[in-house]
Amino acid sequence: MTVVVMIVVLIIMKEKIKMRIYVKDLNKHLDQKIEFSGFVDSIRNLQWVQFVIVKDLTGKVQVTIEKSEEKNKEMVELIESLPLESTVKITGKLISSPKVKLNGMEIIPEKIEVTSKSEHEIPFNYKNIDGVNLDTRLDYRFIDLRSEKNQLMFMVQSSFIKYMREYLYNNNFIEIHTPKLIGAASESGAEVFEVKYFDRKAYLAQSPQFYKQMAMASGLEKIFEVAPCFRAENSNTSRHATEFTSFDVEFSYINSYEDVMNLEAEMLTYALTKLKEEFGEKVKETFGLDIVVPTLPFPVMKLKDVYKELEERYNYKVPESEKTDLTTEAEKLSYKLAKEKFNHEFLFVVDYPADKRAFYHMRNEEGKLQGYDLIWRGVEITSGAQREHRYEKICENAKSKGLGEDVKFYLEFFKYGCPPHGGFAIGVDRLTMLLLDIPTIKESQFLFRGPNRLNP
Ligand code: ATP
Repeated sequence: MTVVVMIVVLIIMKEKIKMRIYVKDLNKHLDQKIEFSGFVDSIRNLQWVQFVIVKDLTGKVQVTIEKSEEKNKEMVELIESLPLESTVKITGKLISSPKVKLNGMEIIPEKIEVTSKSEHEIPFNYKNIDGVNLDTRLDYRFIDLRSEKNQLMFMVQSSFIKYMREYLYNNNFIEIHTPKLIGAASESGAEVFEVKYFDRKAYLAQSPQFYKQMAMASGLEKIFEVAPCFRAENSNTSRHATEFTSFDVEFSYINSYEDVMNLEAEMLTYALTKLKEEFGEKVKETFGLDIVVPTLPFPVMKLKDVYKELEERYNYKVPESEKTDLTTEAEKLSYKLAKEKFNHEFLFVVDYPADKRAFYHMRNEEGKLQGYDLIWRGVEITSGAQREHRYEKICENAKSKGLGEDVKFYLEFFKYGCPPHGGFAIGVDRLTMLLLDIPTIKESQFLFRGPNRLNP
């Protein structure tokens, strides 16, 4: 194909594929005839003029219809009875109008097409949710998600994941996809969902842990996955869901679990730096809070020292028997502690008792656990560790937890050479909740799944 022919083809293609114009890009189309689509946000029907505000994901624009003009008669009638929340396609001229508060521009339409007509009454007013029951909002989540706050939340979440991915790609990681239907109920204590699988049982994966490690045994070296995890736990807290999205990372040839902590801290710092550049102002405007870029390295404390300081500083006391993990209250207080002691929002906690953690976490020669939890703003967002990659040791660990047949396939991974490795998992829905100070995971998850909610 000659260059000339290619250019002609490209011009024809451009004519045919009309890209949608977003509000954020309207200023590139001033004085042009455009087609603009969106939801009808509000209508002001005055004596001589109708103002229709149409919105898309990126903003709002005013459409102005002069009632006195004969050619507008049909449009005026249409707008008079048009319910808000309908979707429309406007064809008209975009002009600059400094007197218009909204972006200093307006569309003078020549045609309005209703692409979907809404009912007059919507289930609740998503622009003012004061007093609206959370369950009603979740029942009509598609309406709830129309609010500017919620739409921004998902744009921010999407970019957060994009930047974490970007960091990993820049560091030679590859993204893999592990199965969510599994043959054996295994791993740690977390309850699994059982599903009917033809004439036998299968289970929904509670984490990709075993398969991430299989990738290490396969020599893939550095991998990650962003995918659902299923937990049949009957917990009704603000931070648990029965299905959530996990950002899982695993990589080989590490020297200790500190390599894992360092990589996670760097990845989060990279992502939060980029996120602030992209959304800092918008988040401040809409949520009234700052995206805080952390400093490196993140502070690290031993579990027993956290409890010691919580008692000394805030008189927080718990029985010794509960000190094998952070209680919910201790997690909360550890935020205060991290801020006061280190001026930091993150806190790595290490030295958990080995017998309370998963069997695949490495223990050193003294039996000390080579793993950690990362607490952000008072909530655990990650568990991470160097994994046990030595066949005899991992078999011993599994045995000591009473695990047999179910983990046999997993133990095989370590029999034929497997590099030292480690990794971590971050709950994406919790991350979003904490970043934007959302009160519960029910609101930071696209569609919450909990013990009492399977719909919509
Ligand atoms: P928790 O102690 O809070 O129940 P966990 O120790 O069971 O969490 P892991 O199995 O280590 O969590 O999972 C890693 C990460 O996945 C957690 O730090 C959290 O961010 C997220 N996560 C775990 N369980 C849930 C859940 N039920 N709902 C939402 N996110 C979760």
